[in-house]
Parts: sequence; C-alpha cells; structure tokens
Amino acid sequence: MRLTRYFLPVLKETPAEAQIVSHRLMLRAGMIKQSSAGIYSWLPLGFKVLRRIEQIVHEEQIRAGHIPMLMPTLQPADLWRESGRYDDYGQEMLRISDRHGRDMLYGPTNEELITDIFRSHVGSYKDLPLTLYHIQWKFRDEIRPRFGVMRGREFLMKDGYNFDIDQDAALHAYNRHLVSYLRSYERMGLQAIPMRADGGPIGGDYTHEFLVLAETGESEVFYDSEITDLKFGDRAVDYDSVAECQAVLEEFTSRYARTDETHDLSVFEAQVPEARRRSARGIEVGQIFYFGTKYSEAMGASVVTPDGGRVPVHMGSHGIGVSRLLGAIIEASHDEKGIIWPEGVTPFHCGIVNLKQGDGAADAACDSLYAALTANGLEPLYDDRSERAGAKFATMDLIGLPWRITVGPRGLEKGVVELTSRRTGESEEMTPEAAVARLVQIYAAHR
Ligand code: ATP
Ligand code: MG
Repeated sequence: MRLTRYFLPVLKETPAEAQIVSHRLMLRAGMIKQSSAGIYSWLPLGFKVLRRIEQIVHEEQIRAGHIPMLMPTLQPADLWRESGRYDDYGQEMLRISDRHGRDMLYGPTNEELITDIFRSHVGSYKDLPLTLYHIQWKFRDEIRPRFGVMRGREFLMKDGYNFDIDQDAALHAYNRHLVSYLRSYERMGLQAIPMRADGGPIGGDYTHEFLVLAETGESEVFYDSEITDLKFGDRAVDYDSVAECQAVLEEFTSRYARTDETHDLSVFEAQVPEARRRSARGIEVGQIFYFGTKYSEAMGASVVTPDGGRVPVHMGSHGIGVSRLLGAIIEASHDEKGIIWPEGVTPFHCGIVNLKQGDGAADAACDSLYAALTANGLEPLYDDRSERAGAKFATMDLIGLPWRITVGPRGLEKGVVELTSRRTGESEEMTPEAAVARLVQIYAAHR
C-alpha cells in the first residue's frame, strides 16, 4: 500500500478523552473512531490488525478440531426465557422489540442459541464430541464503557461451545481450549496467564481466565512469579490425546495464579514462598468454562447413549476478546514514540521510507523493493508522501510496524538501504535484496 493512496487519519494532538496509552495510541494512529460510548468504527489500519488477530484465532481453533460457523447478533428473547437468563442478565443486555412487538436482544453471548441449534440437529452419542465456534460482535451495555476497545459496549468475541457425552470428555474439550488459547496468544506476541477465576453470570465452577499483565488492567491478580517463565513455544500437541492436553493444563495451572475473585491469602502464603509472591494488575483476554449440564438440562439438549438411554450433554463455553486484544497488545508493547506491533499481528509487514521523494533513483529503488516484498508474500506500507524524513519516521514509529526500510540517494550510491527494527531501534545497512531476504526469513517464523 502506498501511503498517499491509503486512509490513515493520524492525529497530531493527544486526544484528551483517552485515559490509557493503548486508547491514546489507537486514536492517534488512526485505527478507530468512536461513534458513541463504547462503540467504534474500525478504520483501515485498526481493521487490518483486527483481521490478523481473527485469523490467528481461526487457525488455532481449526487446528484444535473446532468447527467455525456464524450465528446472528440479534437473538429471540424466548430462548433466554427457557434458560432463565432473560431476567437474570440485567441491564447489560440490550433489549429490543421488533415491529410485531416480539422481544429480541443483541446477544451478549450465545449459549442459548447454540444449545437450540444442537438440540434441533443432534440426538446421538455418535455425533459427539462436537465443538462449534464463531467470531461475532457482542453487545453488553456496560455501565462504564472505557479504555477504548478494552471495555466497549459492542465488541468482537470468539466464542466456542463444546458438547460432550460426559464430564471426562468435556474436561478434555476444556483442556483443548486451554492449549489452543496458549498457542493463540503466543502467536500474537502476548503472554496470557491462565488464572483460576469465578464463574460469573455464565455459571460454572471449572473456569480459568487468561490475563495479560499490565498496570492498566482492570483485574487484580495474585501469582507465583515462576509462572511467568512458562512458554508454550512451538511444541506439537496432539489435540486428540487426553494425556498430552492434560499435561499442558497441569504445567500451566498448577502454580498459584488467581484473580481477586478467587484469591485466598492463606493458600497463597502456604503454597508460594514469599520471594515469589506477586500481586499485579491484568487484562482479561479470554476465559474458558466447563459448566456441565446447566443449559442442556434447562433447554432439553440430550443424546441417546450406546445402551439406549438418554443423557443431557455436558457443555462448556470458551471466549477470546478479539477486539480487546488490540488494546492489550498495545499496553504490553509500546514506547514513548508509539505502538510496537509483534510480527504476528502487524498490519503491514514493513514500512518503506523514501528519504527523497521525486529523486529518480530513490523512487525507482522504493518501487522495486515494494515489488520484491509483494512478490514474496509480504505487505509493505510505502510512505511516498513529499514530507520531511522526520515526519515520515514519526508516522512509522507511531503506527508501530516492526520493520522499516529506509531508502535514500546517499545509501543508494553505495548500493545499500537501511533496515531498522522498531523494537530495538537498531539499524543495519544492506543491499535491497538482502533486506527483502531478511524480512522473508523473519516472517517465515510467523506463518
Ligand atoms: P469482564 O470481566 O472484563 O467484564 P467477562 O468475564 O464478562 O469480561 P466473558 O463473558 O468471559 O467476559 O467474555 C469473553 C471475553 O470477551 C473476555 O475474556 C474479554 O476478553 C472479552 N470482553 C468481555 N467484555 C468485554 C467488553 N465489554 N469489551 C471488550 N471485550 C470484552
Ligand atoms: Mg470473563
């Protein structure tokens, strides 16, 4: 993409309404625009990152054997009356009535809808196990929408639902989700720690939240510092193997790590030596639940068993805050100049800065770099504006592309361009071909 043809409404001023750095940077980098409290338009740069995050979530869910689908945002109130949650959910639920006076709602989550789909089409143990998921907009009329996309009213969530014959099978699905979530967050360049949590209005007593440590996080967390050394890495896990998934769960959840809702000081002190006890703040970027037969019993979702009996299915639900993740990633990865995107989610793979727009040799070198990167499956953002170098660097630093290639007449006389890392600020001179080859190699690790 050439910047002169793109839509990147960067703000010079720091927006006064934004209290935390990720919100400020998303506004300044022209990623989002608020349309009303807690509701945003996703401008092209923000939309690109949102799509990258979604893509990672899809790939990792499909890898785990979970099946993508799409349910609507508007749901009939009657399904929620069946489960008993229509009245329980309270004011966070946006209630609407259609022209015929039928009660509808903008879905805050989808347990009822998915259970209705299941009971309409599945009746036998032979169709299990089954995990269906979608990535869809949710609406929760939060009392205090704030921090930009971190606590929105309309937000994008991946929510998945497992259906299993019994508790053991459902707990395997739970573990599969834990593994796939660890992989997903790491691919986004994030460390998200599973912590024991509280069921909340969705219910259930087997549940973990995934938290990204950050000062601006809304949750208070308590943990054993050893947990921050754990890395999932690129290990291969067989999602069909109960033992392998269980081993990952044990590895990542056996140390003390809890949110304030479940924190127990006496257990903390008994389990964790004082030097390793930490309390901090965290951003919840996902949660997994096993809640047994809560919805299947209320809504009549059962299957025939091998011996001809009938049992309600065991279920769980598993969510990732897709839109919140943009804020979380920026909170975890920025400096005073702007965002620093991890390679896994960056909106463009690199920037090209032409130091002398209009100079024949510099323009030609930028064009051929652009073509070579594109031919290698990389997407550059070429700053082809007639601006000073300083202004171009400032824009690149603000929008946070992890790599920048700087092209100028002086370097070109020696046959070199400069490749700069946004994270370290280090630059290296090399031929344009070598710069392309280096980027190809770097991104090969993030496919
Ligand atoms: P919170 O405690 O932050 O209100 P929750 O526990 O109610 O969230 P879940 O029902 O677990 O949320 O939803 C799954 C994920 O969706 C959360 O882990 C979070 O990342 C994201 N999410 C929830 N509410 C919001 C919101 N208002 N804005 C953006 N993302 C949200
Ligand atoms: Mg939650």
